[in-house]
Amino acid sequence: MQGELSMTSHEGGHVSLLESDLQALARGLAGGLLWPGHPDYDAARRVWNGLIDKHPGLIVRCANEADVAAAVSFARDHDIELCVRGGGHNVAGRAVGDGALVIDLSGMRGVKVDEEARTVTAEGGALLGDVDRATHPRGLAVPLGAVSETGVAGLTLHGGYGWLSRKHGLTIDNLVSARVVTARGEVLRASARENADLFWAIRGGGGNFGVVTSFEFRLHPIAPEVWFALVLYPLDRADVVMCRYRDFMLQAPDDVMAIGLYWSAPPLPAIPAEMHGAPVLIVAAVCSGPPEDGERVIAPLRALDRPVADLTSRVPFSDVQRAFDEDYPKGRLYYWKSAYLEQLPEDVIATLTRYAGERPSPLSTVEVWTLGGAVARVPDTETAFSRRGSPFLFAVEANWDDPASTEENIAWARRACGDAQRFTSGAYLNFAGFGEEGEALLRAAYGPNLDRLRAVKARYDPDNLFRGNFNVAPPA
Ligand code: FAD
Repeated sequence: MQGELSMTSHEGGHVSLLESDLQALARGLAGGLLWPGHPDYDAARRVWNGLIDKHPGLIVRCANEADVAAAVSFARDHDIELCVRGGGHNVAGRAVGDGALVIDLSGMRGVKVDEEARTVTAEGGALLGDVDRATHPRGLAVPLGAVSETGVAGLTLHGGYGWLSRKHGLTIDNLVSARVVTARGEVLRASARENADLFWAIRGGGGNFGVVTSFEFRLHPIAPEVWFALVLYPLDRADVVMCRYRDFMLQAPDDVMAIGLYWSAPPLPAIPAEMHGAPVLIVAAVCSGPPEDGERVIAPLRALDRPVADLTSRVPFSDVQRAFDEDYPKGRLYYWKSAYLEQLPEDVIATLTRYAGERPSPLSTVEVWTLGGAVARVPDTETAFSRRGSPFLFAVEANWDDPASTEENIAWARRACGDAQRFTSGAYLNFAGFGEEGEALLRAAYGPNLDRLRAVKARYDPDNLFRGNFNVAPPA
């Protein structure tokens, strides 16, 4: 880099950095720096959502915790806007910002299993697949999300739903400790015993409290194979099927986790050719109990009506974790929103079915995740994450490739979510559009926990250095 670098200040103005400032930072790093014009810059500024096209002022490729602390202190001391990138999969694209300094953890993906303690430690840039590859061959698993390329950090910091959540809780319910670089550049350990207020806040409060350089999770046994139901029902029977899905899941054992997925039938040989691309309701479910019982336990989900196709099989859990990876490529255009459903009555189901039929893009989905089980047994005050009592999560995912249809797709997702609002409460911050609702979104997500979160924020980040996120600002 030669000359000056123009960056965005913390308050949205401009900061000029001299070459000597950057040299001083670079000298102390084990990782490296990327700036506009650097040959690796363009690839590094891109995140998973192709809609996001930000041009950071500087990207700090961290190799270790000391690099993270140096980058935090540099941003603070030079009054530069700061973003933190874990897996880069945040739908709102908050990992990058125009003119910002990005703390990029993509080089910190190490994972270490302690079989004796039944824990696994993942660095702050690890992807779900990194954890799965280290744990599944040992017959152990952490409850994570449903697509293996998602970042562990973002997913965990806002909760973390997946195929094991009804059995073992949210990802945060399995967090034992974390190492956090605070706004002061200090490294703190957060756990039930150390900095317990910080530990409470990072379990749902997002990246507001510091940069998490590693997460320690509790491990659970997982059978070598699980039953994985994928049953396709025609859209014109969706209302009936959804009612039966609801009734079964409201009394299903915790071993069963299911998602009702309005989508398009994929062009697979096992699906009748005339149905390829047709709108369908897919009931996807995992039974993570003993495999010898699984087929019987999930049988009702395969008989909710006459299916178009039934792709149910007994597979390694790692295959389930990767089953949807190909459907979510990097660079596609995405806009996702969500809301919790307190009930799933017929008129709500009819609304969901109608919006599924009106999808502007065949790649888009309308989803009903079943919650409950272990998620609901943790009190709302136990972690910053709130809204645990809802039995279902409604998510609308607009996914499309043609930039010319961006407006239409976003409008469809907003309409569907807006229309469902009368039946819903709260929102899941990992599927929260662009966070357009600001304060109202935070209130909806955290409920009464928001005030306590602000108090913890005031203690650990009083100047709101970590604001490139769904920002919980300290009290004025
Ligand atoms: P990033 O974009 O890297 O980061 C998002 C934000 O998190 C950053 O802006 C920052 O504020 C914060 N952050 C990231 N890393 C750190 C860190 N180390 N320390 C402090 N703050 C940090 N969610 C579910 O619950 N269940 C699912 O099954 C699920 N499936 C998904 C599938 C796909 C294809 C995608 C794209 C997302 C899915 N999600 C799911 C949502 C996902 O949890 C969020 O998008 C999450 O933000 C991704 O985390 P990330 O680290 O990749 O994000």
